[in-house]
Amino acid sequence: MLVVMRKDATDEQIHRVVDAIRKIGLIPHPIPGSMRTSIGVTGNIGRVNADHIGGMAGVLEIIHVTKPFKLTSREMIPEQTVIEIGDAQFGEGNPVIIAGPCAVESYEQMTTTASAVAEMGADMLRGGAFKPRTSPYSFQGMGLEGLKILNAARMRTGLPVVSEALDIESFPLVERYVDVIQIGARNMQNFELLRRAGRSKKPVLLKRGISATINEFLLAAEYVMSEGNYNVILCERGIRTYSNHSRFTLDIGAIPELRSLTHLPIIVDPSHAAGKRSTVIPLARASLAVGSDGLIIEVHPNPAEAVSDGPQSLTFDMFREFMSEVRQTPVRSRLVKEVLT
Ligand code: PEP
Ligand code: MN
Repeated sequence: MLVVMRKDATDEQIHRVVDAIRKIGLIPHPIPGSMRTSIGVTGNIGRVNADHIGGMAGVLEIIHVTKPFKLTSREMIPEQTVIEIGDAQFGEGNPVIIAGPCAVESYEQMTTTASAVAEMGADMLRGGAFKPRTSPYSFQGMGLEGLKILNAARMRTGLPVVSEALDIESFPLVERYVDVIQIGARNMQNFELLRRAGRSKKPVLLKRGISATINEFLLAAEYVMSEGNYNVILCERGIRTYSNHSRFTLDIGAIPELRSLTHLPIIVDPSHAAGKRSTVIPLARASLAVGSDGLIIEVHPNPAEAVSDGPQSLTFDMFREFMSEVRQTPVRSRLVKEVLT
């Protein structure tokens, strides 16, 4: 349910409505807009009688949000959310490019990559310190040491960093060192982890689960937002289908669909979808063409020697060429408008 306040509603009237919502056991989420304040209401609305709220002073109307996801929906928050991280603005119109290796492997590997991608025009750095691996015998990440290296790479280049928090135990450590906390595809329905991310002050990059529907994806984001963290960036990274020419199947249609359903920024990870470097750039181009707010791309100084995801990592030369292409195409705003109308 959304309580839309009149343009001239006073702070006092807004507070009274917020209190009245709490009194009937629901949770108010004031959403200041450019024209007027609205108050999103979550909780088990079907069980209470909220009719009296509509008649309170300052209330313009009550809108019933039909979708199961509420705070993530455009029905509740029509204005596009823009998330600022350093100089990068997700959702503002120009694509934000995040680049770096799959995993932090050494000081040398991470800082070399960071300097190279910064010089080529990347906006943010990626690098896993805690790695979710299919096999327990594969490299599991450098842990705290990896986070310290990421921090050094950030200091050297000035680029903000994103890294994955794998579980509740390591969450505070990752939270302390990074600018954006990644919740990986395998953890998209780890509800306790989502709730913990919702209590963080840092923005969250939420990846779509490999078999998650759009509904499930948005409800996962809802878990984070329902705890008070509204800075969620969604990431389409490919889903599991019967098609086996690539590692996953990039669900390109999900981007315009998400755009119409949610106000949250949406980015794409073409690297994990493709699984091989030859298709990463074509998928990246396609993602920007359908209105992605950014890309997260794996780049490695020597992919043949990478400890994880070498086959899908771009070389520096490939990334440089792609970046010069991206920066020459300022057509995003128009494309997004087309998708929305
Ligand atoms: C990653 O980005 O390092 C990663 C493991 O991605 P995903 O969770 O999408 O597989
Ligand atoms: Mn990877």
